[in-house]
Amino acid sequence: MKRYVIVGNGVAGATAAKKIRELDKEGEIVVFSGESDPFYYRPRLPDFIAGAVDLPKFTLQGPDWYASRNIDLKLGETVTQVDLAKKEATSDKGTTVGFDALLLAVGARSFIPPVPGSDKTGVFALRSAEDARAIVQQAGQVKKAVLIGGGLLGLEAGYGLTRRGLEVQVVEFADRLLPRQMDVEGALKLQRILEGMGFSFYLGARSKEIFGGAAAEGLALEDGQRIEGGLILFSAGIRPNLDLAKQMGLEVDKGVKVDDRLVTSGEGVWAAGDLIEHQGRVYGIWPAALAQGEVAGVNMAGGEATYTGTVMSNSLKVVGVDLTSAGDIDAEGKLTSAVYETETAYRKIVVDQGRIVGLIFFGITEGLKACQAAMANKTDVSALVEEMKKADFDFNRLQ
Ligand SMILES: Cc1cc2nc3c(=O)[nH]c(=O)nc-3n(C[C@H](O)[C@H](O)[C@H](O)COP(=O)(O)OP(=O)(O)OC[C@H]3O[C@@H](n4cnc5c(N)ncnc54)[C@H](O)[C@@H]3O)c2cc1C
Repeated sequence: MKRYVIVGNGVAGATAAKKIRELDKEGEIVVFSGESDPFYYRPRLPDFIAGAVDLPKFTLQGPDWYASRNIDLKLGETVTQVDLAKKEATSDKGTTVGFDALLLAVGARSFIPPVPGSDKTGVFALRSAEDARAIVQQAGQVKKAVLIGGGLLGLEAGYGLTRRGLEVQVVEFADRLLPRQMDVEGALKLQRILEGMGFSFYLGARSKEIFGGAAAEGLALEDGQRIEGGLILFSAGIRPNLDLAKQMGLEVDKGVKVDDRLVTSGEGVWAAGDLIEHQGRVYGIWPAALAQGEVAGVNMAGGEATYTGTVMSNSLKVVGVDLTSAGDIDAEGKLTSAVYETETAYRKIVVDQGRIVGLIFFGITEGLKACQAAMANKTDVSALVEEMKKADFDFNRLQ
């Protein structure tokens, strides 16, 4: 009987457990989860902060799911050591389990830049349900929040806070919002809409220090401005959780190095999700972690599957704002683009060598699916670039 150990019960780990059980009905599967909460849909945490939804509503697999499949789920138990020679994993609670195949699916953590004062109370980052609960508690005591980082995740969390009635002040190092998803024109339109929703923005701004006593009272900027707020939320990107992989002596760069079968440099060790680096890329998005969890699960159970990459695609989940961007948005304007624009909407389709390589759909949803499909299928659109600039372009023609 084969023994499997999965470290991490996020989407990568939970999906791998599912796949393994589908293919191997007998094997012993142990899943360790550092979190005490069951497997849930992390992207809904901003809605939880808003008070719009409770955790059970976005729990994807509760303990019963594991029990009914004879999978041993160890909630609130962190793996602290893996002995590759003995093929054993040990947890902070002293459990030691032997394995034939091990999956590292420990995800990533929020990056907290070295801003003095970030150890004060009232300073947060959002990664887990536990973080979200702490943020909600603090939101009940203050009126103003300072959000450090105007990326997608930050704006969604900030939107959650505005729905709780807080004034949200966003401090962004770049000179526009969503620097990775939007070009200059699109970002300006988005900024105007969000300002109408209770956000204010400090762009091109550098954080100097968080001021206050033991509790944070606001953020001072390098240029001397002082922004008051008793809730400081960092949203400055993620860093893969590499501690365990390093301790195991696995090959690591930006993330844990894996091949197309998601095998690491350690014998009998696979890795999937936000912690991996595949062909030089760390994804950090749900669909990639899901696909990788499947591939790793199949291979661990003795099957054959390869991971070929995931198209980077992101949507901003703010009511009244439809924004999806994918692939190369050509922010520097080096490629050919078909742009259609009105006062409130912006559509940009980036074409390289006759193929759609990136897109921004903002305030428009019509044609998005067809465009994404053409991008995935590498459809030749070279003859349509001029026509795609028109308001009434029939996107069925991309098929
Ligand atoms: C607020 C928020 C919103 C998001 N929105 C989107 C979105 O809209 N679209 C999108 O595509 N992606 C989104 N993401 C990103 C997405 O959630 C991640 O890409 C995905 O969760 C990665 O899954 P994972 O399984 O690799 O890691 P995780 O979900 O991070 O799970 C890893 C798990 O491993 C546990 N762990 C860590 N170390 C150990 C250890 N030593 N022992 C045991 N357990 C351990 C952790 O506690 C965690 O539970 C969002 C993320 C957040 C935080």
